[in-house]
Amino acid sequence: MNTLETTMRRDASTRAKPLEGKSAIITGSTSGIGLGIAERLAADGAQIILNGLGDRREIDQTRDRIAFEHKVSVVYSDADLSAPKAVVEMIALAEDAFGGVDILVNNAGIQHVAPVDEFEPAKWDAIIAINLSSAFHAIRAALPGMKQRGWGRIINVASAHGLVASPFKSAYVAAKHGIVGLTKVVALETAQAAITCNSICPGYVWTPLVEKQINEQAAAHNFPREKVVTDVLLKAQPNKRFADVSEIGALAAFLCSNEAASITGAALPVDGAWTAQ
Ligand code: NAD
Repeated sequence: MNTLETTMRRDASTRAKPLEGKSAIITGSTSGIGLGIAERLAADGAQIILNGLGDRREIDQTRDRIAFEHKVSVVYSDADLSAPKAVVEMIALAEDAFGGVDILVNNAGIQHVAPVDEFEPAKWDAIIAINLSSAFHAIRAALPGMKQRGWGRIINVASAHGLVASPFKSAYVAAKHGIVGLTKVVALETAQAAITCNSICPGYVWTPLVEKQINEQAAAHNFPREKVVTDVLLKAQPNKRFADVSEIGALAAFLCSNEAASITGAALPVDGAWTAQ
């Protein structure tokens, strides 16, 4: 190895990561998009609060793996986001662990598919609580600390369904349109506080949530799985491919950068031109 190569390698290993010194909560990060975002923010040096449901042993393994691979602290919160008190306690846990929440990613979400006149009210309530109200409670609790420290990033993982509708998804579409609206209000209220608030609006991303929808839609339409993918799920998505969670993680990381300081109040589609139609 020549001297130039040695110097370049040393520079790369000692260069500060862009989010070093920041802490990030990613809700619903035991799986899918949230896990992808957590991995990316950890790779960029952020301390992480993981949250979500699932097998405790697997969650502990994920926590330990991210901490080891990226040399950051990772703390797990088992908050059930359908309960406002648990959301507030999750923010308090982050403040205790890391002295504050610099980055809040409201990502947790569930889905249920049924015609509106057959939609179970309990399913409606759960979707509104987890996909929309939990973001309000988390923002409400985290914002005072961000204002005090003079920096913050809030990212709400909405959906193409925050911008347009599809049949049989009344609660999900209502919640996602709601979170796009909440994003705009928070952006206006924080515009002069070095805090940004944006929605990411993915089309279809390959995750366990989508896997579950394939099975549900196959039953609802009496179609084979392959036909659900091409004729139902990706019907409206012109690029005909599922995005990877790393694509959403990369956008989240950019929104956390200082170069994204003027992007606020936006609803950013990552949908293969779905909502361009
Ligand atoms: P996923 O099912 O893989 O992950 C959902 C996460 O939310 C999991 O960690 C789960 O444990 C957590 N969660 C669910 N209920 C919870 C509760 N009560 N309390 C705490 N955590 C809870 O789903 P995903 O596809 O990764 O979806 C993540 C987000 O992205 C959701 O808001 C979803 O609406 C949105 N989204 C997904 C797609 C897609 O194609 N996958 C497209 C657009 C938007």
